[in-house]
Amino acid sequence: MRRELNNGNRSGRPYQQGPSEGYRPASQGAPTISLPPPPSEPTAVHPSPPSESNDAHPAKASRGGNTYDLLTCVGEGTYGKVYKAKKNDTGLIVALKRIRMEGEKDGFPVTAMREIKLLQNLRHENVIRLHEMMVSKGSVYMVFEYMEHDLTGLLSLQGINFTPANLKSLNYQMLSGLAYLHDKSILHRDMKGSNILLNARGELKLGDFGLARVYSKFKRDDYTNRVITLWYRSPELLLGETVYGPTVDTFSAGCIMLELFTTKPVFQGNDEIHQLEVIYSILGTPSEEDWPDVKDLPWYELVKPKESLPSKFREIFSKWLSPAGLDLAQGLLAFDPARRLLADQAMQTPYFTSEAPPMEKPLQ
Ligand code: AMP
Repeated sequence: MRRELNNGNRSGRPYQQGPSEGYRPASQGAPTISLPPPPSEPTAVHPSPPSESNDAHPAKASRGGNTYDLLTCVGEGTYGKVYKAKKNDTGLIVALKRIRMEGEKDGFPVTAMREIKLLQNLRHENVIRLHEMMVSKGSVYMVFEYMEHDLTGLLSLQGINFTPANLKSLNYQMLSGLAYLHDKSILHRDMKGSNILLNARGELKLGDFGLARVYSKFKRDDYTNRVITLWYRSPELLLGETVYGPTVDTFSAGCIMLELFTTKPVFQGNDEIHQLEVIYSILGTPSEEDWPDVKDLPWYELVKPKESLPSKFREIFSKWLSPAGLDLAQGLLAFDPARRLLADQAMQTPYFTSEAPPMEKPLQ
């Protein structure tokens, strides 16, 4: 059932697509869904490498005594392809991310180096686990625990229907991974469906730390605002803010939460200005009361909305979310980053603490 490589993107969905196709409510109270099972494992010890690649890879990768058979290509990220592979001695299934060195004039790619350094220190059930690094025949691989799905790919499958309890569990796991990162002073900076990985046990893990960085909790430092895929980017980044913190990730988490319920990305802009317009058309335009500092942002005057729009948020999303769910999503999507919920605060809101149904992982 898992989509294997599809023009280099497991999600099979280009990111710069047209306006939203509209929303499909998840049927409430449906029986617990099963995540699609992992693809059947090839029993052959040395299956042929997939032929779609123009970036030929060896069917085997090894380091010292560790040999892996590459099974299939399951995705492609910023700096290389990701393969499903099997460890020869134990049969353990892993994901190997091959780091593309071609065209790197300065040697090892800096984004890969950043991802490796950060991941080596991370241990949390909702953060992807880097097992080891491996060099084989001139290629460098990151060896990860294997996850059967990413959220974008999963939500694009026909007939996928999470129960309210599944959705609550997925949201909780996402926020829990994020709270752990923020506690360790790490900003993910690329939270989106294709970086949310799921396994067949219904466990959710945050992946792709290529844009992540350590931030200072006590000092207001300047960072680039050209981070986070457009559809998940917060309004302050779109307005040129360079001094930011963990709430850039929780805005993205709010977008992903809504996407989990509606199965579609909710703010689908074509460029930065259109992205703001799409956000305003749903959340309304920010008033100075909602967001006192908005007028100080670098591009605020340049892209100031011509008319003030009311919020349509509750009108649109009450089809899918309970009042407590709506409150949580609204708290994550608050315009003012200083008032936006942090991940650990979000985990303490009534949606998780006091409202039925209880959480339930989407088990096989
Ligand atoms: P990344 O470069 O981390 O963004 O990975 C690109 C794609 O490869 C992701 O969108 C996933 O579909 C897939 N992928 C990444 N890590 C894993 C993993 N640990 N297990 C399975 N698939 C993965």
